[in-house]
Amino acid sequence: MRAFIDNMDVGTHQSLQTRKIIQFLLREKGKTMPEIREFSGLSLPTTIKFINDLLDRNILIESGKKESSGGRRPTVYRLNPEQGYIVGVELLLKSFRMSIINLNHEVIYDYETDNFDISKREDAFDFLVRTVPALINSKGIADEKILGVGIGITGRVNRDRGISYSFLNFDQPLTKLLEAQWNYPVFIDNDTHFMTLGEQTFGLARGKQDVVYVNLSRGLAVGLISNGQIHNGHSGFAGEFGHISFFDNDKLCICGKKGCLSTVVSGASVEEAYQEKTGKALSYRELMVLSKQGDRLVNELLSEVGEQLGKALSLLIQVLNPELLILGGRFSEVGEYLKYPIIRGMSLHSLPQLMADCDVQVSPLGEKAEMLGAYALVMEKVFEP
Ligand SMILES: [Zn+2]
Repeated sequence: MRAFIDNMDVGTHQSLQTRKIIQFLLREKGKTMPEIREFSGLSLPTTIKFINDLLDRNILIESGKKESSGGRRPTVYRLNPEQGYIVGVELLLKSFRMSIINLNHEVIYDYETDNFDISKREDAFDFLVRTVPALINSKGIADEKILGVGIGITGRVNRDRGISYSFLNFDQPLTKLLEAQWNYPVFIDNDTHFMTLGEQTFGLARGKQDVVYVNLSRGLAVGLISNGQIHNGHSGFAGEFGHISFFDNDKLCICGKKGCLSTVVSGASVEEAYQEKTGKALSYRELMVLSKQGDRLVNELLSEVGEQLGKALSLLIQVLNPELLILGGRFSEVGEYLKYPIIRGMSLHSLPQLMADCDVQVSPLGEKAEMLGAYALVMEKVFEP
């Protein structure tokens, strides 16, 4: 697939069409010939030639017949899932996660470790440089099958410049430094922006115009879709909702300020509150397990977090008038439990009409959203005409 892309004549009408159609198939999985024809606007003979060419190269495969109400059932074509892979990486303060996704949107490999500290710049960079190719090779996947690596990083990231400002900030763009070490294209963005893109391309936000995506994990941030476009902001830093000044408390936030929303609404704050009450230091992920087992104290803490989050989100509801609010991030695992306190908090502090028009849903993609966002960005960039 990589060789096929590299060998395409750049700028010709035909290569533009091919890129557009492959992007379409990467996004949509299986499609029939009439559907491909309708999308591309090509003539029937040209569409047949195009499909046959990709079938000959084994880039496209037949994937059964489409259900239809009558007449002949058309053949469904999809990309051969083993012709290429996209790698998604998530770098948080103290964790590294990597997924390999095939062209059928399936996560075929997932790895996670807490043995990582992004604040130790050189060590973290070396770890990244070594680990990504090692994991790819451990799955027996050749470098030329990797279409690209999308890395979601916590903190301030400018995706267009390829620079991560808060962490792994060197005198050259991080994407350039990594591409010099690896044999694949590299793209970066903020972790929450990736999740939002994943939801927009493959999840609940698909086809929606105005959406607020909430990433409640160890920290808190939001992704915004306005008029169908992801709003990254002037410098690429939009969505730092966890750091709005919201409480008159004396709690110090990781950003160095006091009273930030995330001092009460975040995985870290739940850990802290639980430790204050019980003396036990459990991670927020362990606390989520307890929540699912019905632990009363944990659920009281989550209930309070949800209500405060709902109150804070009412600010966004009033300002942005979204049609949908998606609860995502790691806490989507207990999302059905959190949803009602959030709605209660939102309802108490929002204008009824705005609240009534905003649907609140828990992301079914959950943690996969970020990796699918990485997939979507690589797909968009690699096949950019
Ligand atoms: Zn803060």
